[in-house]
Amino acid sequence: MSDTKRSTRELHARIDAMIADADLAGQSECVAGCAYCCEQLVPTTPGEARVLSEALEALPRKERRDIYKRGRRNARKVAEKVAPHRSDEQPTRYILARIPCMFLDPDSRTCRVYEARPLPCRSFYSPSRAHCRQCHATGSPPPGFEPVPLPEAMKGIEPPADMGELHQMVMSILDGEDGR
Ligand code: SF4
Ligand code: SF4
Repeated sequence: MSDTKRSTRELHARIDAMIADADLAGQSECVAGCAYCCEQLVPTTPGEARVLSEALEALPRKERRDIYKRGRRNARKVAEKVAPHRSDEQPTRYILARIPCMFLDPDSRTCRVYEARPLPCRSFYSPSRAHCRQCHATGSPPPGFEPVPLPEAMKGIEPPADMGELHQMVMSILDGEDGR
């Protein structure tokens, strides 16, 4: 396993342990199958993109092909409908462009690579499904919306600077454009 993948997995394991200790899930209305949050812009590191690509390779062929097709389509939509906008406008543009994550199962509305999901997916808990539904409908959180606060210990963790949008990061690896 490469150093990047190893350090990504170690970071994810640390975060999972902190979240389990803080019982964030117990403070939220998040449930499997509720996936408005899987239709928003997910910043992803190069290491996370590699971990996601590896998880994809482990899936059955039919599912892999379906996910790959969605990934290509989504990366194109991101390039056309999201990337041209200012960075502070991109989260709203992304939601309004209706781009369900390539890894989201369209029937069960669950993540097909759950153990490999990137940090934003591991650490976002909402106190209200209704708020998430409203955010999905309008493109931005309703006034006063606050996610469930993260444990203090997580606040010192700096996200790497070289993050990008999930589909663009993953597809650049799958299509071999990341210089490997
Ligand atoms: S963050 Fe919102 S959309 Fe995602 S599972 Fe939780 S309640 Fe549902
Ligand atoms: S990686 Fe999984 S949890 Fe994250 S947005 Fe995609 S489907 Fe949702």
